[in-house]
Amino acid sequence: MHKKIKITDIENAKNKQLKYAFDGLLDDIDSIGTIKADLLFEAMGDFIKLSGHVYGIALSTCDLCLKQYEYKLNFDIEEMFAKKSLYENLSGKETEIKEGEFVTDLEGADEIDVSDVLYQSVILDFPNKKVCDINCNGGDIFIREDENSQKKEIDPRMAIFKDIKIDRK
Ligand SMILES: [Zn+2]
Repeated sequence: MHKKIKITDIENAKNKQLKYAFDGLLDDIDSIGTIKADLLFEAMGDFIKLSGHVYGIALSTCDLCLKQYEYKLNFDIEEMFAKKSLYENLSGKETEIKEGEFVTDLEGADEIDVSDVLYQSVILDFPNKKVCDINCNGGDIFIREDENSQKKEIDPRMAIFKDIKIDRK
């Protein structure tokens, strides 16, 4: 079930700040127990600022041994949402206003899908290379590949030996 926050609730809140504690499951993210987030929504004119902290234990799949492992979530999020389209021709996508600062266009929607925002932030928090453990057995595959590439470096000399053998035939 998607949890959503109404823009008007943020604007009508005291100091235009609305605190929201998320505690639930996210679609397509396996986790041990629920994923939690302490969030603060702030209405700033045409923008809504979201800041907060996300924590919990997600289950990720190891790139090496393909087994599921526990990945600890513990990170800050900061997002900006534009109530109106920033550019008429560029709607529905994130717009980079400054390097590393993105604004998500709400396309006139009257609510923010908290579950979706958290899903995106968790996906971004996962490392590019997901490895269950430094000593993961699946790592052997990569060590073997390294040995092979070392052999390839010797290959030119090996090729000469092969040629000699062929010449003698
Ligand atoms: Zn592994």
